Amino acid sequence: MAKKTPYDMAVEQLEKCAKIIDLDPNALEILRYPNRVLSVYIPVRMDNGKIKVFKGYRSQHNNALGPYKGGIRYHPDVTIEEVMALSMWMTWKCSVAGIPLGGGKGGIVCNPKEMSVGELERLSRGYFAAISRIVGDKEDIPAPDVNTSGREMAWFMDEYSKYSGYNVPGVVTGKPLDIGGSEGRTEATGRGLWVTVCEAAKKKGISLKNATAAVQGFGNVGLYSALFLSSSGTKIVAVSDSKGGIYNKDGLNVNAVADFKAKTGSVVNFPGAKSITNEELLETACDILIPAALENQINASNADKIKAKLVAEGANGPIAPEADEILFQKGIMVIPDILANAGGVSTSYFEWVQNLQNYYWTLEEVRTKLDALMVKAFNNVYEKANKHKIDMRMGAYACAVDRVVRAMKLRGWI
Ligand code: NAD
Repeated sequence: MAKKTPYDMAVEQLEKCAKIIDLDPNALEILRYPNRVLSVYIPVRMDNGKIKVFKGYRSQHNNALGPYKGGIRYHPDVTIEEVMALSMWMTWKCSVAGIPLGGGKGGIVCNPKEMSVGELERLSRGYFAAISRIVGDKEDIPAPDVNTSGREMAWFMDEYSKYSGYNVPGVVTGKPLDIGGSEGRTEATGRGLWVTVCEAAKKKGISLKNATAAVQGFGNVGLYSALFLSSSGTKIVAVSDSKGGIYNKDGLNVNAVADFKAKTGSVVNFPGAKSITNEELLETACDILIPAALENQINASNADKIKAKLVAEGANGPIAPEADEILFQKGIMVIPDILANAGGVSTSYFEWVQNLQNYYWTLEEVRTKLDALMVKAFNNVYEKANKHKIDMRMGAYACAVDRVVRAMKLRGWI
């Protein structure tokens, strides 16, 4: 049997949710497919003088709620099915966050680690030129994803502005601050996750002041999740990166670990902590577990060994579907990725709003708005999950699909 593609999995999840909420079959038929997928071939003059053609995609899943939104990744394993699946997941993430945006995603099949900065700039500009007819600050607003950052967003924005004849900062988000980025974007995903953990802790009767947490992946999401949790008094007893993990039952000083990683390249060998493996980190005795690295970390082989009371998915897809069921049976609450890490896209939404107004907010304003949005999103999902007696993941899907379908019906699509 052919291996399931990410798109097959995305459709399966949608179908599972459709059964729970008794979804109108006409809505399901529309939502199964992206509205549009554009394939492009981008000729790039390489540093050796030869032309090389790269393949790229932009998938626009659904725009019932607003313009398409979603990142662009540069990776050798990018496929059209992956980009289509990711665009559908973006539809659900934007919907569950309650923001007026739809779902999109893009990618280029390339290995940026083997390319010079000049080659990457020519590739980025070529890709944006090729998709320029379907993106725009009112149509489709890309953002960074795997192997892209503020640098690529600046090139995209510049390229698009050239065609328009004036600056269009709102055509992409995740830009550097000097050219229309938002305060608070760097910390946003970790902060949003922390807000959902605060809400979940109230429901589960966990006092964050006396709680312990373990964080897998000490990158952007893991670091800020750990920092904000520490600010609530939670002891971060374990953290890890791709080289391994560290543990201290009395709690780690997160800022000191971050400095150590910046100097040495890893958290491993941090003074005063015991070395552990990434597998051991996941099974650590703690109240809160935050997988914030890769997909498929908690699966049928280790779900039974998870000791945390609460798992908040910082990464996309760190819990395999078969593990969801095991955790649910064990009474462990999972805050699913489309909710737990939605602080990133929500602050991208704030960046876009600021660009359209050409008026910029302070960090405090961004934080206040983000916190309110995440609290509301969490409680909507929690109520939905309780109402249907389903886990939080399906609760989040149910909220997300409901909202998109209401918009589709109002607009007369069904
Ligand atoms: P990052 O590159 O900043 O950090 C990733 C971290 O994971 C690094 O510390 C890396 O060493 C570690 N890691 C890699 N392989 C590992 C392994 N096998 N075991 C343990 N740790 C490992 O990336 P990020 O931006 O923090 O993103 C992490 C995850 O969160 C990804 O799934 C990403 O899609 C998701 N996400 C990120 C954002 C965002 O705003 N950055 C938003 C939503 C979702």
